[in-house]
Formats: sequence, structure tokens, C-alpha cells
Amino acid sequence: MRYLSTRGHPDRRRFCEILLEGLAPDGGLYLPERYPQVDAATLERWRKLPYAELAFEVLSLYIDDIPPADLRALCAKTYTEEVFGTEDIVPLRELEDGVYLEALSNGPTLAFKDMAMQLLGNLFEYELARRGEELNILGATSGDTGSAAEYAMRGKKGVRVFMTSPDGRMSPFQQAQMFSLQDPNIHNLAIEGVFDDCQDIVKAVSNDLEFKRKYKIGTVNSINWARLLAQVVYYFAGYFQATGSNDQKVSFAVPSGNFGNVCAGHVARMMGLPIHQLVVATNENDVLDEFFRTGVYRVRGAADTHETSSPSMDISKASNFERFVFDLLGRDAAKARALFEGELGQSGRFDLSADPVFAGASARFGFVSSRSTHADRIATIRDTDKRFATLIDTHTADGLKAAREHLTPGVPMIVLETALPIKFAASIVEALGHEPDRPARFVGIESLPKRVTRLPKDVDAVKRYISQHCD
Ligand SMILES: *Cc1c(COP(=O)(O)O)cnc(C)c1O
Repeated sequence: MRYLSTRGHPDRRRFCEILLEGLAPDGGLYLPERYPQVDAATLERWRKLPYAELAFEVLSLYIDDIPPADLRALCAKTYTEEVFGTEDIVPLRELEDGVYLEALSNGPTLAFKDMAMQLLGNLFEYELARRGEELNILGATSGDTGSAAEYAMRGKKGVRVFMTSPDGRMSPFQQAQMFSLQDPNIHNLAIEGVFDDCQDIVKAVSNDLEFKRKYKIGTVNSINWARLLAQVVYYFAGYFQATGSNDQKVSFAVPSGNFGNVCAGHVARMMGLPIHQLVVATNENDVLDEFFRTGVYRVRGAADTHETSSPSMDISKASNFERFVFDLLGRDAAKARALFEGELGQSGRFDLSADPVFAGASARFGFVSSRSTHADRIATIRDTDKRFATLIDTHTADGLKAAREHLTPGVPMIVLETALPIKFAASIVEALGHEPDRPARFVGIESLPKRVTRLPKDVDAVKRYISQHCD
């Protein structure tokens, strides 16, 4: 299997070459040259597999530069009951007739990003050891991504994490999750500024090519193909749990921000998994809902990006969206480039409403969408608690609301649960008047010793810190 860039760069790369990279050299995103097809006999065989084995089967269709025995061992080491809380890894439960919740957030940081990040940690460690290299991951977080990255990379040989976050602006629980890590390869940098300042610093450091090369700076952002690939697996696992045979179809409702999660669903569907619809659920930051309703993709400015009660979906542009648009355009890289580099770069928007391909977004690729507000989330959380004695978080509530707007009789609807309620306790208190239960391992984490360095909003201060901690 070779990988190409959505913007038409002539190089074709192998999996391990793109594993440690971000964007392709021409600014595009990597995609496999073709989607391997999974036939009925293969689905039948996969149906009975434990999660780690299923992960190995899916991954091995895309990864041919890691020996199968090693890849199988990496999957087995990643997807364990010990790390993900249950033997099923992503257990499915029926909420009401035909509507299911697939639990993706029982990993170490209680959000679905663990599903991919835990594998990435093991892949990085493996590949770096094989090359005899080291990597320093520099990131910016306002919550979920940073903690998922730190829990995935803690104690990993050859990897250090430098994670910037806006000082004092994460929830006490999120701060405690990250800052209580005592592993020497994990560095928390609290920047005296807001999240955008952290992101600007990361960009500035990464743009200093000499520094970047010297200190082997890398990232783990959501455009990483390996992360997306790891997420494809749970679409298969959800499908098998919701159906009794492979002639049935299901739909998925996916709380969406950067379009990584639902893009994995698109990949699963392209492989032949019988998915009827992919429901893209957004909050008030409705860039994606707008596109699927109108054909206009319009990136938002800072003033137009709302802080909501489902904050992990608060995006101004969807960084993985180009992958889907590339497929929508019939894999026409010149056209993708004209849209994402040309039109989007110049005017912050592009418009496919008059292009015949746009109708295919729903008809051919199964995409539909919905938008929720804070009031919707609170109402959905309250209703789900009252009628089903089930507590869901704000992001999952966005997914459930969207799911109900797109039910098809006879087609099971699987809502992806992307975080546990404890991570967003304030909204639970608002909806129900009490705090959510806390998993035993998180009781009292706010009072654990914290390991964090406060730094000014200054690129050189961050560079100095990195250079002093890289030996
Ligand atoms: C990251 C995240 C999302 C959005 O996922 P994308 O892959 O960016 O679309 C949704 N919910 C939670 C809880 C998240 O952490």
C-alpha cells in the first residue's frame, strides 16, 4: 500500500514514512492510493474476532512495512481490558428501540481520542526504536488532545512530549489529569495566554526549520493518518455488535469537530462496511453542518468561533475535511488543490452547491448533518437520564440529538459516545443538579502533586525549555 497527497504531489509513500509526519510536502493530507475492499466472507470471519485481532486485520490492509507478527503484537498490547476497562473495548448498548451508544471513552483519559492515540504511542515507540531515532512531540491543547497524547506517550522510549496549554484555562479535572503525570518524558508547559497563543507558539517553533530538525520536533495532530486508521476499527466493531448478519445496514451519528472521527467512518464505508448514513453532528460551530446542507464550506474567524459546552467540537475549520472532499471530487487532486489552496486561501470559503458532485455527498457517500445548541444538549442529557437512567456527556448529546433527526426505519443507528460525563461536569450539574459519578481511579486527582512549568507567551522561552530538556 502506498499513500498519496490530496494535492497531487507525485511522491508515493509507505505507512511508516508518513507515520511520524504531519502534512504532505505540498500541504495536502495523506490518503491510501485505494481503499482495500472487504467482501462478505471477510466480514463473516471478522465478526467473531476480539477487538485487538480485528484491529490487526484492518490495519494490515494498510500497513505492509511492519512485519505482521510485530503489528499483531502492537495491537494486542494496545487494546487490552486493562487499558480500556472492558474485554469488548468498545461495548455497545441499546438506548431505545434501534438507537445504540457505542462506548469509545473508557480509555485512560475518558475520551475517544485514546482509541487512536494509545496505538500511536506504541507505533511511535516501535518505529523510533527500529530507526534508532528520537522524537520530541510539541503540541497545544485546551483539553482532550493533550491529555490523550500524554497518556499515550508516557514512559515510551525515544519520545518526549512538550504540551503547551493556556495557564489556568482548562477545567480543574483536565489540569489534574495532565499535570499529575510524573513521567520524566512528559512536560507540561502552562503558557500565560489563551489557547491561540499556544497554537501560535507551536507553529512558530515548527516553522523554524533549523530548530525543528535539530530537536526532532514532531506532532500528533488529528490529520495523522495512523490516528484516522485506528479509528476505522471501531466502526467495524460497532457494526458487528449491532447486527446479526452482514446483509444488514447501520448508520452512525458522530459528534464532529475536525472531521477525523467521521472521516474514519467514511473510510470504513468505502471499504465496503454496510453503512447507510454517516450523521455529522456539530454544535454551534456549524462549519460542517453548513457544508452538508448547502455545499458552501466557509471557514470561521476567531470572532465567529463560539466557546460552547461541547468544547472539543469548537472548531473554525475542519482539518480532516480535505480528505473527504478529495474523494467527493473523484480524487481530482488539481481540483482539491484549487479549492483548498486557491479559493479557501484567498476568500476563506468555497462553494460546491452548483457542482454536480455535491449531490453525491449524501446520495453516494451517505453524509447527512445536524446542528445542536447548548439548550439541546442540556435537554438531551436530562431526557436520557430520566428515560433511560443513562448519563451522557455534552458531545455525545450532540450526537444523539442528530441521530434522532436521521433515523431510518429498520436501520440501527449507532451514536458514538466520545467522552464520559465527568470530563464536562458543569453541564451535568446544570442539567441534573448533581455531579456525575467519577471512575474510582480519578477520585481525588485534583489533590495529587502537579508537574507543570509556567512560561510567558514567548516562542524563545519555549524553545529554551525544549533545548534544556532534550538530552
Ligand atoms: C476530539 C473530540 C471530538 C471531535 O472529533 P473530530 O475527530 O475532531 O471530529 C468530539 N468529541 C470529543 C469528546 C472529542 O474529544
